[in-house]
Order: sequence, then structure tokens, then C-alpha cells
Amino acid sequence: MKASSLHLIRMVPTILPDLTFEEALETTKIYSVMGLLKNGTPLISSRPFRAPHHTISDAGLIGGGQIPKPGEVSLAHNGVLFLDESPEFKKNVLEVLRQPVEDGTVTISRAASSLNFPARFILVIAFNPCPCGYLGDLKHNCKCTPTQVQRYESRLSGPLLDRIDMHLEVPSVPYKDMSSADSGESSALIKERVQQARSIQKKRFEQRKNYYSNGQMTPKDIKKFCILDTPSEKLLEKAVDRLGLSARSYHRILKISRTIADLDQSENLQTKHIAEAVQYRRLDCCK
Ligand SMILES: [Zn+2]
Repeated sequence: MKASSLHLIRMVPTILPDLTFEEALETTKIYSVMGLLKNGTPLISSRPFRAPHHTISDAGLIGGGQIPKPGEVSLAHNGVLFLDESPEFKKNVLEVLRQPVEDGTVTISRAASSLNFPARFILVIAFNPCPCGYLGDLKHNCKCTPTQVQRYESRLSGPLLDRIDMHLEVPSVPYKDMSSADSGESSALIKERVQQARSIQKKRFEQRKNYYSNGQMTPKDIKKFCILDTPSEKLLEKAVDRLGLSARSYHRILKISRTIADLDQSENLQTKHIAEAVQYRRLDCCK
């Protein structure tokens, strides 16, 4: 991935809400088990950002070993796990991500027993449009054959993409444009909006234990908290038909719409919120 986009992804933790005390304790515990706590840092107070290399093994990613140890998914607990050049990861390595992405926890089974480690993180995966990276680029020519492009795309499995909330195409931006002073909202401002949206969600789920964000909503919650007016319902119906969306994608769109509406401080879901969320499912149609 190009340096400018990598810079953008490294910024993700800077717009996330501050760690709560409980979250800080959970994350610290994992680093302590691994002997990774730095001298003079008894408590980890910022969200972790982990970016393992594509040569990592499945045990390195989800944990394992004779005496089971947590892997990268647990070191990313309450933070961000970033997989750059994701089609380069071994297929079995990507497949083992499905459990933690779905459950926020990972189970390491051994003959005698099995161990659970926490693994709730934001998964960010990046990949190029083709092996050389220039497909669709206006300034460079792509030299890949259609077969090479197809083989490259097929390395990311549908079930994994299906579990990813938002798909975005990031055009290459020269680094000087990104780092210039007038390049938009600052991280601090965005973080403020994120914190506000998070407190709306905290209030929404105050009766539930360990429930703090829209991402955790069950289909029953979605019915209760994502009520659609007729135009929004029609728009979503059309999107489902056109893109051939799965039930899982349908529910994800509603959850993301709820979050977009929270960021907008809007109690009701509006057509514009649904329309924005549908845009983030762009890879659903080409799986
Ligand atoms: Zn190419």
C-alpha cells in the first residue's frame, strides 16, 4: 500500500474514543501476559495499533503454542488490527480471523483444555486493485492479465469480506496534499464527534451489560433501534435487490446507518444515512 494511505490508516486510533478504565485493564493484562509492558508503563492508556506482516502464521495471528499464548488479534484488543496487502496473507490465516471478528474472542483448543482470549478490535484490511497496483490508475499502466487480477481478488474470501462493515476505495493522494495544513478536519475534532456518538450509544444500551456500540446489536435490537420511514425502506429494498445482498449485509447496513445518524446527532434514521451506508457495501456485488 502507498505511504500516504498507510499514514491515513495509522491515524485511525487517534479518532477513536478514549479507552475506558475497564478496557485499559483488559488490554494491559494481555500485554503483561506476553511480557510486552514497557518499563514505567503500568497501564496501557491508548488504543493499540497492530500491523502484522503478511508472512505471519495462523498461530501468530490468533494465538497458540504449547503453552497457549495470545496472538496479534488479542494484542489488538480494544484497538485496531491492520492487514496491509491482505491478499498476500495465507488463506488459512485469513480464515481464522472469522471467529474473533464475529465473537470478539478467540478460542485456542488443546487436547487437555481450551483457552479463551479477548479479541475485540477494529479490523482494517487493505488491498490493491490488482497485483501491480495500477489497475484504474490514470497516470500508470497496469500490466496484469485479467486472470492475474481475478486470482488476486479471489484470495480474499467472500465470508471474510461479508464480515467487514465498510468497503472504501482510497485514491492515491500525494503525501504533500495530505499533510498540508488545510487538509480538512483535525483528528481532535473528528474524535469529539466520535465521542459524542459513542455516548449516545452508551445511553441507548445502558440496560445491557458489556454493550457499548451499535456494532453489537442483535437482529432484535436492529428492529427496535433502526426504524425506517417509507422512502428509506424503499431505498434499502432496491439496494438489496440490485446488489444481491445477504441477510448479514442487510443488517450491517442498518447498523452502519444507525452510527451515521448518531454522528449526525439525528434520532431518526433518514434516507441520506441509509444511502451513505449502502455505498460502503461496494464489494458485495463482485464477490
Ligand atoms: Zn496491475
